[in-house]
Amino acid sequence: MTLVRIEGVHKTFGQHHVLRGIDMTIKQGEVSVIIGPSGSGKSTLLRCVNKMESISAGRIHVRDELIGYREVNGQLHDLNPRQIAAQRREIGMVFQRFNLFPHKTALQNVMEAPIQVKKIAKSEARRKALELLEQVGLADRAGHYPAQLSGGQQQRVAIARALAMEPELMLFDEPTSALDPELVGDVLQVMKDLAKSGMTMMVVTHEIGFAREVGDTLSFMDGGVVVESGDPREMITNPQHSRTKEFLSRVL
Ligand code: ADP
Ligand code: MG
Repeated sequence: MTLVRIEGVHKTFGQHHVLRGIDMTIKQGEVSVIIGPSGSGKSTLLRCVNKMESISAGRIHVRDELIGYREVNGQLHDLNPRQIAAQRREIGMVFQRFNLFPHKTALQNVMEAPIQVKKIAKSEARRKALELLEQVGLADRAGHYPAQLSGGQQQRVAIARALAMEPELMLFDEPTSALDPELVGDVLQVMKDLAKSGMTMMVVTHEIGFAREVGDTLSFMDGGVVVESGDPREMITNPQHSRTKEFLSRVL
């Protein structure tokens, strides 16, 4: 079953045409890895999928629901903020910078949204949050504040916090790019486990090893288009397009 359908998506910022016709489908349970040079539009694409940015043309569907808009006679009209918030709840996002609440413990960070947004009972939210912290290998850090955690631990708390909303899709925007090299592995392991558990994921990363090992599809973006996409192992070993070849030779 197709979970995410991106069709003919364009995005302009003023005169700047950043996404120039993106088509992408992601099946339920698939891991779609996106690579490409800085400025190619990867973050913008992810931000369009959860309506942090509005699109200039095209359509994005998640589970047959049009994201961010309702369509009347072929025209798109913005959903209201409440409707957009409801759609976003189904989509977890993890950023390069973890943005945890600094004055809350790891546990409180993970419990916050289910209590505030989903109105879940505190005891239930706590039970679930402890389970999630265990899942990301941080059961023993529940009472720590972000400043007392390493970057990799903070990022794993951020992943647990996104999972606490029980999203059906997870977006990762260079989740390990801000980390010291020795902390990258633990975060990638959590993402691998999540993929194995059947989570549908869109992952922007420069970790080619992760793409090869965990990715179901790999897309190479440049200049606001998907230049090439396909089986990660095939594409990494034998890229078809000269721009893909050149990019891979720089990051491998
Ligand atoms: P990537 O994530 O691949 O590095 P981005 O999606 O962040 O690329 O950016 C693609 C292009 O869009 C860049 O040229 C960037 O400057 C531009 N851009 C991104 N966000 C904005 C914005 N809010 N306003 C204007 N330009 C933007
Ligand atoms: Mg980016």
